[in-house]
Amino acid sequence: MPLGAKSKSIDIWNSVIEKCEKKLAKWKSQYLSKGGRLTLINSVLDALPTYMMSLFPIPPGVIKRLDRIRRNFLWQGNKEKKSFHLVKWEEVMTSKENGGLGIKNLKLQSKALSMKWLWKYANNNQMLWREVIGAKYEKEDNWITKEVTTPYGVSLWRSIRSLWNEVKSNSKAKVMDGNKTRFWKDIWHEKGNMEDLFPDIYNLIMFQQSTIEDLWSPQGWNFIFRRNLNDWEIVRVAEFLNIVNTFTGLQPGEDKLWWTGDDKGVFKVNKSYKLMDQTDQQCSRWPWKQIWKSRIPHKVSFFVWSMAKEAVLTQDNVMKKGRTLCSRCFLCGETSETVNHLFLHCKYTHHLWRIFLSLKGISWTMPRKVAEALLCWEEAGVHAKDRGRWRIIPGAIWWAVWKERNSRCFKSIENNVQKVKLNCILLLVFWCNQLYSNDTVSIIDVLDSI
Ligand SMILES: [Zn+2]
Repeated sequence: MPLGAKSKSIDIWNSVIEKCEKKLAKWKSQYLSKGGRLTLINSVLDALPTYMMSLFPIPPGVIKRLDRIRRNFLWQGNKEKKSFHLVKWEEVMTSKENGGLGIKNLKLQSKALSMKWLWKYANNNQMLWREVIGAKYEKEDNWITKEVTTPYGVSLWRSIRSLWNEVKSNSKAKVMDGNKTRFWKDIWHEKGNMEDLFPDIYNLIMFQQSTIEDLWSPQGWNFIFRRNLNDWEIVRVAEFLNIVNTFTGLQPGEDKLWWTGDDKGVFKVNKSYKLMDQTDQQCSRWPWKQIWKSRIPHKVSFFVWSMAKEAVLTQDNVMKKGRTLCSRCFLCGETSETVNHLFLHCKYTHHLWRIFLSLKGISWTMPRKVAEALLCWEEAGVHAKDRGRWRIIPGAIWWAVWKERNSRCFKSIENNVQKVKLNCILLLVFWCNQLYSNDTVSIIDVLDSI
């Protein structure tokens, strides 16, 4: 292999990586919460490589480097020393609905962007780039070129072309003038591919590559059989004709590749990304709305998300990272500290839950896990006067508990439970006031409205 022969595209990617690093250095000089960092990653950092990816598939090595940059920025921020990466990067990259943070998976994004080229190739006959590609690689059918098999060189079209089967499996042909769509080979009928549905008849037919235009006339279909039909074959042919006779006729315009992921048949990068992101995800009971649609500060949403993932740095998790501790709950001192104990089952925390439960006269059995508790809290709130405010309560309880826990852990300052209850209510009122900015509401107003 020739050494030092850098392909042009790697150089281009280097400049994208540099730009990301530069942007980051600028942000690193100021303090940002994890919530703020998440917003920056999602809005700015992801936009940088997207333009390039829409032209060139992103090489795996570049993905690795960009992932490292994004991962460290998320967990470490402006701190010099290494931080714990609390949740696996693969999970972080799934959508919020599926339990992640919705950070773009660059591999999937690059794939979706490349697939768009294939869809365009199938649909736009007149574009110059299509003519160039079409001339360079032989055509496989009317929609796509042959697969590129040359083993040498970095072929842009080779990597794009390799995704054709995935585009095809989510597409069908929309017949207009019938000139591109092959009757037996393409999927144009709602029942499916004719060769697969009627292999026996396919074998009896001449001109198996015919397009719909070749076979259709205003009087109906013109099939030419290889030989006379036997009696027992006639029933089957009638069945076949019954199905294909639902075809209503040709129309002016070119046949289109209709992408089934969209109502109008147009390939959408975002939707395609979502489809790929959803595979192998099974998180129907994940409380994403309670985490991300609650009107609490973004950093608190992020914190509640880490709680629901059981990834907050309580002592059990610190020990999992390799530190030896003698774990005791800082609030009750009675048992070892875990996420679910501290925030749900601790008798100290229980006092905070009681404020609201007794206010509404709700009998409540505390669920085992944070994610379940969020869902149950939502159900318990059906009778709340203001469900928006009701939804804020768990965040306020947990934020107050976490502050108190950290004050005891790091500053050895202990507040009594009355003080922490008050802090919790003040947080709730403060956040409610941010939510309804036109009117200032008092503690009484808030407690009265939930
Ligand atoms: Zn406790």
